[in-house]
Amino acid sequence: MRKMIIAGNWKMNMTNSESSELVKSLVEQIGQVENPLVIVCPPYTALSVVKKLLDGSNIFLGAQNMYAEQSGAYTGEISPSMLLTIGTTYVILGHSERREYFSETDRMVSAKVKLALESGLLPIVCVGEKLDERESGKTEDVIGSQIDGSLADLDADDMKKIIVAYEPIWAIGTGKTATPEMAQEVHSFIRGRLKDRFGDIADEVTIQYGGSVKGDNAAGLLSQPDIDGALVGGASLKVDQFVKIVNSV
Ligand code: PEP
Repeated sequence: MRKMIIAGNWKMNMTNSESSELVKSLVEQIGQVENPLVIVCPPYTALSVVKKLLDGSNIFLGAQNMYAEQSGAYTGEISPSMLLTIGTTYVILGHSERREYFSETDRMVSAKVKLALESGLLPIVCVGEKLDERESGKTEDVIGSQIDGSLADLDADDMKKIIVAYEPIWAIGTGKTATPEMAQEVHSFIRGRLKDRFGDIADEVTIQYGGSVKGDNAAGLLSQPDIDGALVGGASLKVDQFVKIVNSV
């Protein structure tokens, strides 16, 4: 049985006091939920504060990015070992905003995935097509090549530790969600691609959907056979919305 996982990506939002307030309410309302597994990914500055408040709950801590080196002259970057010392378990890699605004390529994502795994962090690897790619019938080509490139040189044991997030770029932060059927089609394609590359372990890989998931559309998406959770942006900043998404599993 693969795990249902709901992760909140807070992006560049939330001061430390706002983070504390948000996470205290989450711990109160969903802190003991075991299914789905719940992850929150605050900005780097709030990781320590949030971790202290999560202790004793079932909610896990994730980061939104990391650099593909453990230390050195990389001004402004954060390494996997730094994240681990704070108690971070998961790390989002290859988010479309990183790919678009910070020119991250599949190659860079792949280096990060490898170092995250070697270090003991569990990656959430994001893939997704742009609107023009979907409209010109290239969704499977784009997703297939992102999967191959971002998950290069890994074996089935590595794949056991990875979460894949399918996030159509045209649905992120836009209020447009893929219909459950549209999302299922791509999730099934991704699972097939993972099966070709890694064998039966593909059936165990959690594939999250992301893109304007909210309290009132989560249940429909999560009821699809290959949708195993959600990566939630905007709605993860609102306690009632995020709780509703978690409770719709
Ligand atoms: C995201 O950034 O991963 C995301 C899915 O954002 P939103 O839920 O706001 O579309």
